[in-house]
Amino acid sequence: MIKLENVSKYYKSEETVSVGMKKVNLEFDLGEFVAVTGESGSGKSTLLNVISGLDGYEDGELYLFGEETSHYTISDWEKYRGTNIGFVFQNYNIIDSFTVLQNVLLALEVQGYDPKTRKQRALDLIDKVGLTSHKNHKASKLSGGQKQRTVIARALAKDCPIIVADEPTGNLDSQSGAQVLKVLHDISKDKLIIVVTHDYDQIKEFATRKIKMHDGEVVEDKKYKKIENVKEYVAPVPQKMSIATLIRFTLRSLFSTPKRLVFLTLMQMIVMVAFTLSYSWREGQIRDINVQQSSRFPNVPETRLLVERRDGVDFDADDIEYFENIRFVTRVYEHGLSFYNSLRLFIFTNDSIYNTGTEIYYNSWSFATGTDAAATLSSLDIDGTLPVAANEIVVGDSWINYKIGDEVYIGTSSRYTNPNVNEDFVGKFKITGIDKSKKHIIYFSDAFLENPNLERYTINGQAKQELIEQVYWGVTFPYDSQEFYLNKEITNQIGISILFNSQASGTAELLEIKDIAFTRHFYNPNTYQGFPLTITVPNVSIYKIGTDTSFYAAMSSDLETYLVNYVLNHFEHFYKVENRRVLSLSVKGINDGNKTINAVDQNTYRIIYPANIPNPGAGILSFVLGLFTGIFIILFGLLLYSIVHAVSKNIMKSRKKDFAIFRSIGTNRVTLARLVVLEQVFIAGMSALLMFAVLFVLSNYVASIYSIIQYMEIIDYIVLIIIFLLFGAWLGLRFNKKIFRQSVIESIVSSREE
Ligand code: ADP
Ligand code: MG
Repeated sequence: MIKLENVSKYYKSEETVSVGMKKVNLEFDLGEFVAVTGESGSGKSTLLNVISGLDGYEDGELYLFGEETSHYTISDWEKYRGTNIGFVFQNYNIIDSFTVLQNVLLALEVQGYDPKTRKQRALDLIDKVGLTSHKNHKASKLSGGQKQRTVIARALAKDCPIIVADEPTGNLDSQSGAQVLKVLHDISKDKLIIVVTHDYDQIKEFATRKIKMHDGEVVEDKKYKKIENVKEYVAPVPQKMSIATLIRFTLRSLFSTPKRLVFLTLMQMIVMVAFTLSYSWREGQIRDINVQQSSRFPNVPETRLLVERRDGVDFDADDIEYFENIRFVTRVYEHGLSFYNSLRLFIFTNDSIYNTGTEIYYNSWSFATGTDAAATLSSLDIDGTLPVAANEIVVGDSWINYKIGDEVYIGTSSRYTNPNVNEDFVGKFKITGIDKSKKHIIYFSDAFLENPNLERYTINGQAKQELIEQVYWGVTFPYDSQEFYLNKEITNQIGISILFNSQASGTAELLEIKDIAFTRHFYNPNTYQGFPLTITVPNVSIYKIGTDTSFYAAMSSDLETYLVNYVLNHFEHFYKVENRRVLSLSVKGINDGNKTINAVDQNTYRIIYPANIPNPGAGILSFVLGLFTGIFIILFGLLLYSIVHAVSKNIMKSRKKDFAIFRSIGTNRVTLARLVVLEQVFIAGMSALLMFAVLFVLSNYVASIYSIIQYMEIIDYIVLIIIFLLFGAWLGLRFNKKIFRQSVIESIVSSREE
């Protein structure tokens, strides 16, 4: 059945060539129980390794079942080993994390034995080697003899004709050694058993033949017993491992070493969190560049949506209840809109008001826009606490060092001087927290924003104020071919009137009463677009004091009111429309904001999301940003991958022995490769799902995490999962390369050394 003709094997290292065996001529048949003896280094192991296809040879020819083997490919050898050879090593090669049963089943699974019968077969064999009571014990808990008997059961599990055993009793006491040899002998009928031993006496009673080796050569070959009635051997047809078995096997491999699994999973989770956050950070960046701020409602945070009724009717309790019932809306503010516009607010310290009289406003060019603290800040973003009472605020500023506990005054005008009389005075506030991001924003409490009196600080209130000032500070009117600016109000004249030289003393003299066309270059307080406006006022009384009519033309308060009303009416197009009541809805962030838009009945309400208006001009910028952040993400991902690879590589080293065992029992390359890849893919998939779950839970409690991942859509999660699975597969493929770089015997030897 096996025939060696002048077979030689040399071990070449860089400097030396040592002889493993020289010109060996031997023939083996079924039914033989061969004892190979000889001192250490005589070539016994070499002979066994060559016979079993674990190692190649240089010269001569090895015939297996009459077939030459010099043309054998790796997969031919794998097939031969898988179906014909059961191997028992001195070091009882056993998978420590598996139970006895699992170790035996292993051989049947990789050979694709029928799932229905293989368990019974494994149990029968375990019974044969006398380990039934230990079948569910982990291999690491067994004694040396028990391990070796397990390995024998495994070697026998697949129905192979040849069992080779390399010093199977070498590490055992004589009693267990005898037991192991007896087991080997009991199953030897119809098989070829080749046992290497340096203690021939121990095996004498079973051996049918003794071969002695010396310096790589056979020096003695004696047959003691006749072999009779050997059945013709029919080699079993090797089967592929089914997918179900492969998956079950992978899971068993993973879960049989829970510590390793937990470690790898945790490590991958950490790395995946880093990658996911940077991925979603990029999404956020691209999104930010693709949206623009509303010119009508600038500075409205992502946590706010605005709604108005399409029919222009005021909101009633039903409307408010409707919005409160939308799942994504956390709060409905009836008046909170006040502070979401371009309102300029100035902060004044105590000192500036009472001591020096010099104003220190928020800073000379920037403005603060009020916003609700609860929706945009978390305790992580600020030092101190969130504002709760109506007179509490959180501020951020990079120029002025506010301190928690400071008391400040806030006004809408930089001309603000006296809190007791000026109507621009918003109030006196206590700073409870400092915004660490140092944005020029004042965060008011919800209690403050609920105050209906804030209406005067709304965009409408502001617009009205601006218009009044424009009228107040200079409407021109033509008189006697001259242009006069009306810039000062007179209160002592009754009716619509204009007074020349109002600073002179004396009695006012009525010149005439006539219709006058006033002109003014007005601008839209919201868009700052300018346009000329002419207002014709009927029956204006024109007075003068003294002789000089060219200075200080001033208007009466009635004329001013007339002009203001006219202007306000004229601005109906963009003023009155905006004067509708707008409700503001609080949401958690961009994702919920968009969901809210979809949830609201668009026929009844117009919904505005000022922080999420598409920016058509973003095109090229968005592309460039996408490209650069994309490159960054890829590099970052590769860095993370190399970390995972470096760490996993060391862990995989500890599995080298397992893989060597798989190969020694005939697991073919493809199956093993699938197994390793599947393992890595499984770890990656599990880590990814766990990581997403953790991230999801955390985002409900930690605002800064929410703010990063809020841009993620389902498609992003799918993309990430695919990336992670591919990375897992890549890891697996790289480990595979390593595993197959060494021959089976090399990896068994080196795994033993490690
Ligand atoms: P035995 O099993 O009888 O102790 P081996 O077959 O292991 O002997 O070794 C035979 C000879 O080949 C010895 O001289 C040994 O040093 C050499 N040898 C065995 N394996 C290797 C190897 N992997 N590399 C180099 N030399 C080896
Ligand atoms: Mg040896």
